[in-house]
Amino acid sequence: MSGMDEQKKKAEAWDREDPLSRFREEFYLTEGQIYLDGNSLGLLSKRAEKEVFHTLGSWRKHGVDGWTGGESPWFTLSERLGAMTAPLVGADAQEVVATGSTTVNLHQLLATFYRPEGSRTRILADALNFPSDIYAMQSHIRLHGLDPSEHLIRVTSEDGHTLNEETIIEAMTDEVALVVLSAVLYRSGQLLDMERLTRAARERGIRIGWDLCHSIGAVPHRLTEWGADFAFWCNYKYLNSGPGGVGGLFVHQRHHGRIPGLAGWFGSDKAVQFDMAHRFTPAADAGAFQIGTPHVLSLAPLQGSLELFHEAGMERIREKSLRLTRFLMELVETQLAGLGFAIVNPRDDARRGGHVALAHQEAVRIAHALKDHGVIPDFRSPDIVRLAPVALYNSYLDVWEAVRRLKRIMEEKDYERFEKKRGVVA
Ligand SMILES: *Cc1c(COP(=O)(O)O)cnc(C)c1O
Repeated sequence: MSGMDEQKKKAEAWDREDPLSRFREEFYLTEGQIYLDGNSLGLLSKRAEKEVFHTLGSWRKHGVDGWTGGESPWFTLSERLGAMTAPLVGADAQEVVATGSTTVNLHQLLATFYRPEGSRTRILADALNFPSDIYAMQSHIRLHGLDPSEHLIRVTSEDGHTLNEETIIEAMTDEVALVVLSAVLYRSGQLLDMERLTRAARERGIRIGWDLCHSIGAVPHRLTEWGADFAFWCNYKYLNSGPGGVGGLFVHQRHHGRIPGLAGWFGSDKAVQFDMAHRFTPAADAGAFQIGTPHVLSLAPLQGSLELFHEAGMERIREKSLRLTRFLMELVETQLAGLGFAIVNPRDDARRGGHVALAHQEAVRIAHALKDHGVIPDFRSPDIVRLAPVALYNSYLDVWEAVRRLKRIMEEKDYERFEKKRGVVA
């Protein structure tokens, strides 16, 4: 029996004993297709769909009274979904609220927590971060009348893919007012040591905030215990809340009562919001950091999706996710050897998020060819194919089959049929 056949048997055996296998039926999967792009846009689940219809039904039935009546009043929906999200980030219910989007929430948190004072004027970030986060940081530096080229420090990467925690800590000097980092880097999938970095920042009197876009729903967190000042994320990647779905934020309880940098009436103490006073009374919890009326229809899918996470349990999800990506790396190494791929995510379980990042000179065309063969990856410029087998809806056999198709594409040079250009989205 060839290695590939043995690996298939192993995948089938793992699928049979997988405690999460029943969740696959909760999602809409396309027959014949292997979806490995759940770190960009998670798939629709039946529960999420049900909640959208539920919400439309409430609107139809209750009209304006849906804000305070019906089964799930919209007035407090963001707080309820925040409480449901809290276990995924290791927070108390009142420290989390479902609101805004990644970038908007980062703006809110920078407006609140970036306070250049004396010689502490700089924001410490990294050279591998997502552009939107960088733009937000640059704009707040400018709003303080400072120059981003001087006040935004970006820790560089030695290998172009990963960051060294030691180097980040060395950069936490007494000129730094705030650190903003991603828990999992969006390209390489490196998981930073959040606990260590948070402790190091706090020991130096520096505030620290975390972008959890690529870690929430893939990796467990303990934000309250670690003492992170704030965190923010989108819910449409591993949390499957749909395109443009509402995001979330965490503010540590030691900061509750603080006036948000960007105030709006939905950040009010709920008891007095409808007094319509011109004096702002912020909510006593993370709810204070909301701005305007919640996007109720875009919040609805999150509720259904979070139910699935509660049933599955974050620890089991992480365990399966690690096993899926470990298996994927084993297949890449054994089946795609000599075909020009380099695995650029860290190998170590403790340093790996939910996806595998493969560098290849022909990455764009390979991504196109994979799609043509029913495997949905994503491409990140200039040369990375990201493959994210998701614990709730992918099987071990999916991983095996994806590599089998990729191997054929490479051996037959099928990718040469495609243009070396990325589409608007890919
Ligand atoms: C996905 C992602 C974003 C997206 O921001 P939006 O405001 O939701 O468009 C931002 N930052 C990181 C690190 C991401 O991974």
